[in-house]
This record gives sequence, structure tokens and C-alpha cells, in this order.
Amino acid sequence: MQKCECGNYSLAKICPKCGKETQEPKPPKFSLDDKYADYRRQTKKEELKKKNLI
Ligand SMILES: [Zn+2]
Repeated sequence: MQKCECGNYSLAKICPKCGKETQEPKPPKFSLDDKYADYRRQTKKEELKKKNLI
């Protein structure tokens, strides 16, 4: 299944709705995203601590 940037899903390489090229949806990377989200949260917290905001 391909997905077009217009939001339409199609099996075709070209979207029948808008005529643009469809893309294969990227597989979700939950573990990696979570890891970086945690890291970002931690970094943000450290920054706030340094500025004595919390
Ligand atoms: Zn489209």
C-alpha cells in the first residue's frame, strides 16, 4: 500500500486523486522515537534547572 502526500492511499505508483507520486509509508520506529523523546525531555529539564526555572 502506497500513500500520497494528499492523504490518499493507493496501490498505484501515481495517486489517482491528484496525480502525484505515491510513497511507501515509513514504518514506525517506536523504540527509537521514545528513546529520543526521553533524551529530549531530560535535556530540557536540565536546561530549566540551570536557569533556576524549576
Ligand atoms: Zn494524491
